Amino acid sequence: LARNPGEKEFHQAVVEVFESLGPVLDKHPEFVDAAVLQRLCEPERQIIFRVPWSDDQGRVQINRGFRVEFNSALGPYKGGLRFHPSVYLGIVKFLGFEQIFKNALTGMPIGGGKGGSDFDPRGKSDGEVMRFCQSFMTELYRHIGEYTDVPAGDIGVGGREIGYLFGQYKRITNRYESGVLTGKGIGWGGSLVRPEATGYGTVLFTQEMLKTRGTSFDGQRVVVSGSGNVATFAIAKAQQFGAKVVACSDSSGYIVDEAGIDVDLLRQIKEKERGRLKEYAVRRGASVSYVEGGSVWDVDTAVALPCATQNELNTEAATRLVKNGLIAVAEGANMPSTSGAVSVFQDAGILFGPGKAANAGGVATSALEMQQNASRDAWSFEHTEQRLTEIMVGIHDRCAETAETYGSPGNYVVGANIAGFVKVADAMLAQGLI
Ligand code: NDP
Repeated sequence: LARNPGEKEFHQAVVEVFESLGPVLDKHPEFVDAAVLQRLCEPERQIIFRVPWSDDQGRVQINRGFRVEFNSALGPYKGGLRFHPSVYLGIVKFLGFEQIFKNALTGMPIGGGKGGSDFDPRGKSDGEVMRFCQSFMTELYRHIGEYTDVPAGDIGVGGREIGYLFGQYKRITNRYESGVLTGKGIGWGGSLVRPEATGYGTVLFTQEMLKTRGTSFDGQRVVVSGSGNVATFAIAKAQQFGAKVVACSDSSGYIVDEAGIDVDLLRQIKEKERGRLKEYAVRRGASVSYVEGGSVWDVDTAVALPCATQNELNTEAATRLVKNGLIAVAEGANMPSTSGAVSVFQDAGILFGPGKAANAGGVATSALEMQQNASRDAWSFEHTEQRLTEIMVGIHDRCAETAETYGSPGNYVVGANIAGFVKVADAMLAQGLI
């Protein structure tokens, strides 16, 4: 902790993983001898850079850019870029650290990394977002590449931003290197199912957890936080599985729609018009209430899918949800539950799918995009979704089996942490002191 002062989210992520590792270190003292834990905590490379750009009034703006290349034992660094005013080194490192184990769990050949900027795309014009992305890439391009580091999207970075970033990379390098970024548009190297993958994957993982208790999504009441990329497609998939999703949120408030959320209307407002959730309530009419400010976790539910941001679901909210009929939680977002909330869920025997397992469908499909780029191929929606389904079922089973093997049956946190760790630690040992 003393080596990384003030990086509280990074500390939280490291503690959460290391708390699970006791049994595996007892069994494998070679990991301790080779200082694998200490090495894992130190990123292989961290890049922090100035991003100057000019706004629509011609004023100069300065933001800070980050790329943390955390671990390449299993493949090129892979992980998204986040554009949000809250971004600082501690957030990027927590996300990059999580990404190492998540990527290992997918079974794909990808290392862990993450990046972003404290730039806020909200309220910016397309021209401003483009100039920012071009300036960001003007530094980042020298650090990334198909065999080195392959960024993607995250909060505030969707198809529009990936397009501007890719265009600038191509312009600077004079190379059409499709595999340098994932989340590209269909038609210029993107993969079908990539936009849907994280939300769909979270629901597929949850469905597997529910099966272990002899139940399913069918007929369940579901609450989702957020209304961005992950949330939207989690809502869509849960509804396909017969659930009724009654609430979702943005950073200003939440809506409750007892008739079930209209995904088409939600996408029209959030994706196409880049509007606020409040407008959903106005357009959908009387059945919907909008609560300004408050927490969506005040709404009772059987299944909770936090898909917005870190530490959004605290002990108090967890306790209330458990009291009011909660049966399962799966994290579409990264570390949305505080450590106190996780303890509440686990003590109450609630099915709990941690983000590094439950939301791994996004990065797994990014790896499928890389496969398509490398083979100059484009797969059908059905084929890609089938691959995603197999991957999520595989991750679920790997977590469940590992938890069982190490004496914590049903504990997906232990299962995910140990399964991811062992894969990376074995590779690090094999590759010598790196
Ligand atoms: P988006 O930017 O598309 O959506 C984020 C949503 O969360 C928006 O509704 C946003 O509200 C809300 N939100 C963001 N920050 C806050 C905050 N501080 N407080 C309250 N609400 C907030 O991002 P994604 O959907 O891509 O990402 C959501 C989560 O999923 C993140 O934790 C991300 O790391 C994780 N994730 C994403 C993957 C992907 O493929 N995109 C892959 C794996 C994990 P508003 O519109 O008001 O800003």
